[in-house]
Amino acid sequence: MSKQRTVYSTDLGQLCPDCRQPVKSCQCQPLQPDGDGIVRLERQTKGRNGKPVTLITGVPLSAPELKKLAGELKRKCGVGGSVEGASILIQGDKRPLLKELLEQRGFAVKLAGG
Ligand SMILES: [Zn+2]
Repeated sequence: MSKQRTVYSTDLGQLCPDCRQPVKSCQCQPLQPDGDGIVRLERQTKGRNGKPVTLITGVPLSAPELKKLAGELKRKCGVGGSVEGASILIQGDKRPLLKELLEQRGFAVKLAGG
């Protein structure tokens, strides 16, 4: 844990210990620093006209890296998708393929839900 490295400023609130930017505008830190480092793949259909999507959560990457990873996964799966907050959304139930692709990149992957 890197919690003790957290830097505070009375003006800007919590600062990133690496780039010294306010945490809210920092682009270098993982978006989910308190996660357990395990990437979870969840199939969702709710609120999406019954069409399944695969939600990838818990990816320990910064925003630019997450966007890049989303692009690679979309290309490999041959489907659309997007980054939503700290999660990646891939169209269709692509859990087995995504698990393989993410594990190839060295992530610990768990299938969750659905
Ligand atoms: Zn930073």
